[in-house]
Amino acid sequence: MAEGREKGLSQRCPLCAGVDHERVSRRGRDGRPLDTVLCIMCGHVFNSPIPSVADLRTYYHQAYRAEYKGVVRPKARHVLRAGIRALERLAQLRTLASTSARLLDVGAGGGEFIYLAGKAGFAARGIEPHQGYAEQARAMLGVDVVNAAMQDAAVPEESIDVVTIHHVLEHLPDPRAALSRIWQWLTPGGLLIVEVPNVASRYHAPRRRFHRAHIHAFNETGLNDAVTNAGFTAVASTVVPETEHLNLVARRSQPAATPSWRATASQIRAQLAAHTAVAHAMSGRPLRRLWANAKRPIVESYQLLRLSDRSPRGILDHIWKEKCS
Ligand SMILES: [Zn+2]
Repeated sequence: MAEGREKGLSQRCPLCAGVDHERVSRRGRDGRPLDTVLCIMCGHVFNSPIPSVADLRTYYHQAYRAEYKGVVRPKARHVLRAGIRALERLAQLRTLASTSARLLDVGAGGGEFIYLAGKAGFAARGIEPHQGYAEQARAMLGVDVVNAAMQDAAVPEESIDVVTIHHVLEHLPDPRAALSRIWQWLTPGGLLIVEVPNVASRYHAPRRRFHRAHIHAFNETGLNDAVTNAGFTAVASTVVPETEHLNLVARRSQPAATPSWRATASQIRAQLAAHTAVAHAMSGRPLRRLWANAKRPIVESYQLLRLSDRSPRGILDHIWKEKCS
């Protein structure tokens, strides 16, 4: 799997600052050239070079959602989908924190999770780098979403009881700095709930494993390492069924005096090598995904047809009533 070991690639490892990397892929899932490397020291996988903060700011401010979803503002179906996902996240949150907790959602998107968390009693607010989504969350759902990149957000120290950050960490140029910032925002003992894609996942075909927008790729051990080294104690680590995303719950404790790494390059190499195109085809996953993707818009359209109010608020109020009351 390794395509060549190169010392001194332009980029230092964003987690351990190591300079000894090997290339694990030359193409992204879109087929365009994209170099992805594995850090020999800590087993972290990342795109090299990492885009600059300025490039990323422009990208996320305007373009990302449009490129990703094919629309600039989400359709009713997307609100419904985000709302159902938000209810699943909320179910997990309610087992972990009291409903009076102050919650900050990093990468709040259209604000669906914050809106539903608010209905459950949480004092919930969010940060979202995309201007259109942040504006829509405020206008359509009346939720407190600030349009800012994480590094620019003004959040007082020790003012938050729970930070949720779902499918965001892998997009940030410096995940270590992001975790330190979250540590500062949280009260002592405060909760971090983080979810990221899993580099060891077998959900996608191997050639679709790496993604321009996903700068970092963690395995379960590596995510634990990153969070622990930033001053958290892991409470629960889960591999989500089917997608095999990584979900980690941790509490703010003390930053490690010396960072330590349990993830290793050889472990990652073995995980990447185990997921071959043949194994993927034989697993039944491509067919299952095809079927799920074909069925989903039909089910969603049917659900929406039954609603008299198909505004974002109407959709979320409906699923809340159906599932939570
Ligand atoms: Zn490293």
